[in-house]
Amino acid sequence: MTDEPPPSDTTLFARVVAHAAQDPGRPLTAALGLDGEAVARLIGRFLPHRWDLLRELPAAADSGDDAIEEADVRGYLAEFRAGRDGEVEAWLIAILARRMREANHLWQDLGLAGRHELNTLLSRHFPRLVRRNAADMKWKKFIYRELCQRDGILVCKSPNCSVCCDFASCFGGEPGEPLRSLATIGDDRNGERPAAGAGEC
Ligand code: SF4
Repeated sequence: MTDEPPPSDTTLFARVVAHAAQDPGRPLTAALGLDGEAVARLIGRFLPHRWDLLRELPAAADSGDDAIEEADVRGYLAEFRAGRDGEVEAWLIAILARRMREANHLWQDLGLAGRHELNTLLSRHFPRLVRRNAADMKWKKFIYRELCQRDGILVCKSPNCSVCCDFASCFGGEPGEPLRSLATIGDDRNGERPAAGAGEC
């Protein structure tokens, strides 16, 4: 156990942006699912020392194409926003929906250092969602199962998790290593400044 406080939004968004900026083949906007204006505001708020990332963007960079389920994921997450910081919640909704499309654990595809950092973000900005996942199911599994259940799609092989052969696939703590050595901008707390009005940790 550590008594360290949970990482701030500044640290966590820095990791997310740093990771997305290394996404091959698409601009930062598309890697985050945000348009250029939103990315500029995000960088201005959390990474003001990294305006260079904006200079690298194509002139008309937009948020890129949605996957077929992405609007549903955004709509689902929006139902659980804390209402504490609308701008940050809106960014997270778009980013989470976009990064959900990747192949690894959600925390890995966000560029975070561990699942605990994703839980920090979600607990801070979507606390009812965390309470809803009381069994601590893997996040992608949980959200997709929720969406499927809403659509009346049967996704589970068993009516009861405890006797299901897919238990290890749905639960199990999402172990793994970060996908990259955390970028310097993600760990550079010298570049942090408090987020205006966020009242974050
Ligand atoms: S463990 Fe089985 S029953 Fe439980 S959520 Fe996963 S697939 Fe569904």
